[in-house]
Amino acid sequence: MSSSDSILRLAIQKKGRLADGSFELLKRCGLTISHGKDKLYARVEEMPIDVLLVRDDDIPAFVADGASDIGIIGQNVYDEQRLTGDADLPEEPEMRLGFSGCRLCIAVPKGEGYDGANWLEGKRIATSYPGITQAWLKDQGINARTVVMNGAVEIAPRMNIGEAICDIVSTGATLDANGLMPVETIYRSEAILIKSPHRLSDAKQAVFDSLLKRIRGVQDSREAKYIMMNAPRSAIDEITAMLPGSDAPTILNLAGDDSKVAIHAVCRESVFWETLENLKRLGASAILVLNIEKMMA
Ligand code: ATP
Ligand code: MG
Repeated sequence: MSSSDSILRLAIQKKGRLADGSFELLKRCGLTISHGKDKLYARVEEMPIDVLLVRDDDIPAFVADGASDIGIIGQNVYDEQRLTGDADLPEEPEMRLGFSGCRLCIAVPKGEGYDGANWLEGKRIATSYPGITQAWLKDQGINARTVVMNGAVEIAPRMNIGEAICDIVSTGATLDANGLMPVETIYRSEAILIKSPHRLSDAKQAVFDSLLKRIRGVQDSREAKYIMMNAPRSAIDEITAMLPGSDAPTILNLAGDDSKVAIHAVCRESVFWETLENLKRLGASAILVLNIEKMMA
């Protein structure tokens, strides 16, 4: 077997708003990559994975034609290319990753008297996302033209290229500075993991499976807590029912006190103060909530 049949290729953004989250995710998976500024390639030390460092726009096509086996990309760019490009991309991503969140908004000049999506009927919308915008318009039953711009979309109304725009909004400061206001959120995005539709070799598939397990472990451990407490033996059932997203807890006898037990459990959802207060009301004491660093089911 040649090494290219056994080394999994992962494409990530070299630099930008997806890059930090992608590097951070790999790090939390226990993967260190040695990458220099000008390198296009980096080898992961702990697993047979090659990381391709590229522009985000290139990632869906690389993954579609198998030049890369998997990739991390913004869902907005992925869906846009899926809707308008000719690359053969599956509709559902392999996994949502929860970072690089953003939204796509329709914005119009302040003081336009926007009174709902019907206002857009027959108008021109400047955007870098014609596919997603048209899909939304269709959903709303509205006919409007999209004018494609690859940057500086917010100047379109002033230049009379469009009556409205559709663009990524984070704080809204750029819109405000250009005399625009957001009126509709039409799409929410986050980073996603995508996988090539081409069949992976058995060796690559095995690497992919263990990478997925690690990523799931990282995702699970983000919210998860390890909770410990002492509690009356009679309240075990009630307390177990109250622990958010936990599997069967461990019940331990306490030396010298038959009426009480220690309860240890992994909670997969956030543990709020309210939960702790309710546990106290059921007679729990010495409650400890600990962060979990790593987890594997
Ligand atoms: P590249 O040089 O790789 O082509 P880019 O300039 O196209 O980079 P970035 O600005 O780095 O792209 O954004 C990449 C992705 O990050 C976006 O497509 C989007 O999914 C996400 N993102 C998160 N927050 C924001 C934001 N405030 N503005 C723009 N994109 C954001
Ligand atoms: Mg880009």
